[in-house]
Amino acid sequence: MRYILITIASLALSLSSAVAQDVKNIIFLIGDGMGLASVSMMQLENRYAPTIFDQAENIALQKTYSANNRITDSAASGTALATGFKTNNTYLGTTADESVVESIMELAKGQGMATGVVVTTYLQHATPAAFYAHIPNRHEYLTITEQLIGSSLDVAIGGGMAYFKELYGEGIAERLATEGFKMATSLDEVKQTKDSDRVIALLGDYEVNNNAGAYLGNATQEALRILNNKSSNEGFVLMVEGSLIDGCGHGNNAEAQQVEMMGFMGAIEVAVEFAKQNPGTLVVVTGDHETGGLSLVSCDSDFCLSEQGVEYRWTTNGHSGTMIPIYLYGAGAERINGIMENSELGATLKAIIKR
Ligand SMILES: [Zn+2]
Repeated sequence: MRYILITIASLALSLSSAVAQDVKNIIFLIGDGMGLASVSMMQLENRYAPTIFDQAENIALQKTYSANNRITDSAASGTALATGFKTNNTYLGTTADESVVESIMELAKGQGMATGVVVTTYLQHATPAAFYAHIPNRHEYLTITEQLIGSSLDVAIGGGMAYFKELYGEGIAERLATEGFKMATSLDEVKQTKDSDRVIALLGDYEVNNNAGAYLGNATQEALRILNNKSSNEGFVLMVEGSLIDGCGHGNNAEAQQVEMMGFMGAIEVAVEFAKQNPGTLVVVTGDHETGGLSLVSCDSDFCLSEQGVEYRWTTNGHSGTMIPIYLYGAGAERINGIMENSELGATLKAIIKR
């Protein structure tokens, strides 16, 4: 008995030393409005062949309620994920009493790491803005645009050109240059930038001009190239948002949501492949909240019979309050476990990169 106990103890020790890898890079992928039903829909649509979600090395769950509402908006949940603090709906990068709180990007930059965001909506939208802006009203897009230009991000790829035009007219590139950014208006232009450049890519007036679905994976690939070259030994933090999953939930459109989910899954695949090639990379995939109250129900209430088809049924045009899954891959995947607050996930990621 004693021998078995010792063997188990030494096995546990060697296991823990084998898995306790240092985390150098974090790729944080957020599906806006992506709940468990959206993931389940993709598994069903894939005829239960393994999806990228099924390949997770660890999973956890997070509670999304905000400081002032049991149903969060993307500003409060984005702030919780980006900073580790719950706040009121519509608040970005501040607590409910409007105190500014540090985002994981600011912490990373202060330690010499490289940072970036890649989204399918405008860069001033709530989720990306939670990673660089500090303002209690998420709808002040011009101020948020100025905060983006003044931020320490190394790469930002998404839409939102309209707000830049409103502020700077024809002089956007010149204005960005004064803050040390190269402007790009296509992914090809991003590819041509030098490793030393900081890049803001504006690929649409509001949302990214993208009908093919491959955009998010390609943009993630480019951002990873830039950040990996730029960060040398210090590592990087990249946030990638599947932004438009949410709008399909608001519109109760399952087919459109499947297209957005495919794009998001393509980005996850790029991230997971990068993590395989680059040890020390943690990939975290989650949603900020669920949208639409999606459920997957039998078309026939007598499900003792053989299947009569499955229906995607929506219960609201707004957000819902269900817990959201977290999928983990790569270095440190074992360090995020159980049921947690969304803010706890944000705080844990900050703790993981803290040098
Ligand atoms: Zn929404």
